[in-house]
Amino acid sequence: MQNTAETLRPKVVVVGGGIAGLASAFLIQRLSRERGVTPEITLLEAQDSTGGATRTELQDGFLCEWGPNGFLDNEPATLDLVNMLGLSERIVRASGFASKRYIYHHGKMREVPLSPRAFLGSDILPVGAKLRMALEPVIPAKRNGHDETVYDFARRRLGTDFADYMIDPMVSGIFAGNARELSLRAVFPKMVEMETQYGGLFRAMIAKKRDAKRTGQATGGPGGAAATLTTFKNGMGELTARLANELTGSIITHSSVRAVHPKGEAFEVVTQEKSYFADAVVLACPAYAAAEILNSVCSNAAAALRAIPYAPIDVVAHGHAVEDVGHELDGFGVLIPRGQDYRALGSLWCDAIFPNQAPTGSHLLRTMIGGAHDPGIVSLSDSEVEDIAATEHRRLFQVKAAPRFRKVIRHPKGIAQYTQGHLPRVAELELLEKQLPGLLLTGAGYRGVSVNGCAKDAFRVANSLLAHWRLA
Ligand SMILES: Cc1cc2nc3c(=O)[nH]c(=O)nc-3n(C[C@H](O)[C@H](O)[C@H](O)COP(=O)(O)OP(=O)(O)OC[C@H]3O[C@@H](n4cnc5c(N)ncnc54)[C@H](O)[C@@H]3O)c2cc1C
Repeated sequence: MQNTAETLRPKVVVVGGGIAGLASAFLIQRLSRERGVTPEITLLEAQDSTGGATRTELQDGFLCEWGPNGFLDNEPATLDLVNMLGLSERIVRASGFASKRYIYHHGKMREVPLSPRAFLGSDILPVGAKLRMALEPVIPAKRNGHDETVYDFARRRLGTDFADYMIDPMVSGIFAGNARELSLRAVFPKMVEMETQYGGLFRAMIAKKRDAKRTGQATGGPGGAAATLTTFKNGMGELTARLANELTGSIITHSSVRAVHPKGEAFEVVTQEKSYFADAVVLACPAYAAAEILNSVCSNAAAALRAIPYAPIDVVAHGHAVEDVGHELDGFGVLIPRGQDYRALGSLWCDAIFPNQAPTGSHLLRTMIGGAHDPGIVSLSDSEVEDIAATEHRRLFQVKAAPRFRKVIRHPKGIAQYTQGHLPRVAELELLEKQLPGLLLTGAGYRGVSVNGCAKDAFRVANSLLAHWRLA
């Protein structure tokens, strides 16, 4: 293949039409064109439409997300993507209510205090647990460089109660995960940095606050820079729909890829119906699907992909008249630690976060059930899952009537779990990418489960191909 801008018209096949595949295809198209090259892009999607988990349904004035209800506005890659798509005007930021969050334990919904000082003064944890937490600055930093689980880190620095009642539910809320299984380095690299660089979390927060005061720039919490949850007027589906509309190549649905075979410097991509020949292939399907596709190409990479587990997560969306709900639902929502006699992991109060997501006079609850703690959820029927949510809505929020809007969305393999050993697995995939230039793996399975993680990695994919074509 020649590599001058005048003659280059590389063929690219993207496998998977979720946010990762769509954003990769769009950025390959856009960044190549800026360099005078028009690649021929074919996106193959197994389902009957694109979007993957990132899609939105609008019914009777209720705007219901299948998966992500937004992205945090602290990732420049996502904001760049939104700008390139001309979607900046469509952005909606979470209301002031979203900073109010609840945790349910010991029979009560408790508001999560927003600062360490307020935390110590609140009744959110027993006195002994708060005293243990206050010792965090004097807990020596771990400096052996070994990875540990999120739970072990939280218990070591902040105590067992904090790990059980605050960190584990947060991990369930973000990753549908089990804090005892997830790799700290893979899911919260910032926390590792805070400990190694500053000696602990509180010390890091104080130092960062001091720096922020000096430089006049905002600082964030242990999870990263301060950020606001952001969506679009018609929900997150607007992002995937616009990406699909902007693609000038072909989008072929009902097209499940079975295998990829390297052919010299090119690739053959095999579906049940036909084969495609491509100069570059982007696998943007989940890791377990990529494992099957690459089975005959590299057994080490296939094994690494197979070792990335996915947790099931079900979403029950119920719309209610305000007068049918006893609780005010005046915040982001509630997280429920395990062992509290509830099966739901938590509930998002969509209309408090984004007021346009329910008609005036109504609430929209999105309750999550399942996750790594509760894999058995997959064996239940839709109505059984919905019944669990409805029963728990009655107990938690004093719901008095049947919902006026209802939807159950099942994700049997919903969210990739970055368990211990995740980073070496990703390194194995990077080795394969080096051995087979033009083959790339992206998506929520590898370098970030969030929409932001997918957007950032889509830029890596597009820039890698530009470098491969010597256009960078
Ligand atoms: C319930 C839920 C809530 C979430 N909430 C948030 C949130 O609030 N904020 C946030 O940032 N993130 C959130 N996430 C995570 C976010 O949804 C994911 O990061 C993102 O959707 C993953 O995109 P993806 O393209 O990697 O995968 P997917 O969206 O899963 O897309 C993969 C696509 O590949 C296709 N495919 C699979 N196999 C093949 C094959 N063999 N051939 C062709 N196509 C194939 C699939 O059909 C699918 O369309 C949430 C996820 C879930 C499930």
